[in-house]
This record gives sequence, C-alpha cells and structure tokens, in this order.
Amino acid sequence: MKRRDFVKGVGAGLVAGSAAASVLPGSAFGAKNTKVKWRMVTSWPPGFPILQTGAEALAKRVGELTQNRFTIHVFAGGELVPPLGVFDAVSQGTVQCGHSASYYWAGKSPAAQWFTSVPFGLDAQGMNTWLYHGGGLKLWEEIYSNFGLVPRPAGNTGVQMGGWFNKEINTLADFKGLKMRIPGLGGKVVKEAGGTVVLLPAGEIYTSLERGVIDATEWVGPYHDLRMGFQRVAKYYYGPGWHEPGSVLELVINKKAYESLPSIYKAALDTAAAETNVKMLSEFEQKNSEALSILETEGKVKLKIFPDQVMKDLRKLAKEVLAQEASKDPLAAKVHKSFTQFKAALNKWSDMSEKAYYTRVAG
Ligand code: CA
Repeated sequence: MKRRDFVKGVGAGLVAGSAAASVLPGSAFGAKNTKVKWRMVTSWPPGFPILQTGAEALAKRVGELTQNRFTIHVFAGGELVPPLGVFDAVSQGTVQCGHSASYYWAGKSPAAQWFTSVPFGLDAQGMNTWLYHGGGLKLWEEIYSNFGLVPRPAGNTGVQMGGWFNKEINTLADFKGLKMRIPGLGGKVVKEAGGTVVLLPAGEIYTSLERGVIDATEWVGPYHDLRMGFQRVAKYYYGPGWHEPGSVLELVINKKAYESLPSIYKAALDTAAAETNVKMLSEFEQKNSEALSILETEGKVKLKIFPDQVMKDLRKLAKEVLAQEASKDPLAAKVHKSFTQFKAALNKWSDMSEKAYYTRVAG
C-alpha cells in the first residue's frame, strides 16, 4: 500500500503518534489536548500477581488509548494509603481512582457485598450479565454515587476454591466446631453451620493452619493458594468455592474527577476497565488450571468436591443469611431483590445452555 493511500485510509488521524495528533484541528482529545495525570491506589500487595499486575495493566492501557495524554500512576496497598483505605481515599478525592473489591465496603454500605460475590450466587458470566445487562451496574452506580464514586467492573477471580481442610467434610455436622478462616458472607454461613469463624491477616494463615490454631481456611484458587504453601500443611483441598463463585474486582473512580474528564478519556477509562474485566478472568483461569495440575502431580493433598448434600444444606443456610443481611438496610434489600430475581430468570436459560453443555456434552 502506498503511503498516500494509507494516510487516506484507516490510518488517517492516528499515524505518527503525537506529531499527527498535535495538528488535528480541535483534536479528538479535546480542544487543548488536555493532559491529565491521575493516581490509583489498590488493596493488593506490591507486585501481587493478577490483581496488582492487572490494575497496572489497566492504567497502562488508558495511557495507550490516549497517546499518553491521560496517565495513571498506580500505588499498591500501603504505599500511599492502607489496603482497605481505598474507598475513603477515592471518595474524599485524595486520589482519583482505586482497584479493589466492593465487599470490603460492607461497613459503608451493606449492599456493596452483592457486587463482588455472594454465597451460591452467580459465576463470572452471570455477574457480568447481571451487571452489564440486568440492571446490576445501574444499582451499583446509584449506591456508590452516595459516596461521590463511580464503579466499574474490572476483573473477576472466576469460581474460587472451597478451601483447605485438615478434616474431611462428609455432612453439615462436620462444620460444627470447625475453626475456619473465611471472611464475609461465607463466614456468616459457616457460623450458622456451627463453625467458629477466625479472622486472620494473610501473613498469619499458614502458621495458624500448621499449628492447628485453625482447622481450615479459604483463600482464592489453586494459583494463589499454591504460592501460600497451604499444600504443605493441609490434608484436603475442597472445591468449589460456594462462598465466592465469581468475585468481581472493581475500578472505583471519584465521581467529580470522572465527570471532569474529556469524553474520550472517559471512554478510554471505561474501555480499559472492561478489557481488564475479561483479561483478568482469563488469566485466573489459565494460571489456576496450571497450578491445579501441579498440585495433582505432587499428590500430597487430596483434591475433593464437597458432597451434594453438604452443598444443599449450606445453600439453605446461605439463603437465610442473605435474607437477614438484606433486611438490615433498604438499599441492600433492593439489590438483593434485583440479584435474586435476575438469577432465577438466568438459571432457566443456563440450565438449558451452560449446565446441559458441561454435564452432558463437554464430558
Ligand atoms: Ca476468597
């Protein structure tokens, strides 16, 4: 193709980077080629794979999509604000955005928990369907706007694992007296089943399991769990993670900062978030499958699936726990209703599609 044709064609206006862009009349990027520099804080340790690296990739993408006119400097948890200080820092405008998970903010708004994951809730595909096309994101925006925030789905863990146990789980009664590290709504369900829920920071889980301070712990999935070394101190590794069937990660943005962006930067930010939402999930899936086969090859830990009856019993308890949580706050009740109705409608379709495919066709 001759250069003349190329310039006339798809490349016109986008060739030669800044040199070309600087002569665009009025510029596609706004009248003054506005330079915008933002800061992002996250809830993840420095270099933490998939989550912190994913947040950094999101920021890099925004730069690429705007020819580096809109740049975001990313700070890991504790570098600028504590890991669980993300919500306040963005809400107060200390920084313009953050990468985290909405269920950490249950204390700010109980409804926030539904936008990450709820026990026996939707998987990644279901969460995306509810958020993007089932009114979920609109509700999330409504709730976060009370804090001067705009949320965007920006990653998903996929189905997590049920956890590491030092005793076999055969019936619901095996949860009685079980000391387990399991946070959030899942923990409330384990408590209802008679377990003792222990809250521990990440750095103390391994030794607590090793010394018998706890009998069980959940973490994420094979990839992150293997890095924690739990296979050396637990006998059984149970799936699936009924308590977190598809946890959504969030990009949380200061509303004023978002609204002051030129429209094309807004689009770049939204696009980068949506792209991260897909890429992070696929990275989880790939790395988890690789790590699971390492665990299988080592053969030290017994891989198990929870018995059907245990899942049925826990599901019943989860239903009660969720109804109870929802009754504490009108907004949580509203979100719970939307989620529950949407899930029931989606289930009919997924029984005919995903479920039928996996159980009868894929083998
Ligand atoms: Ca987890």
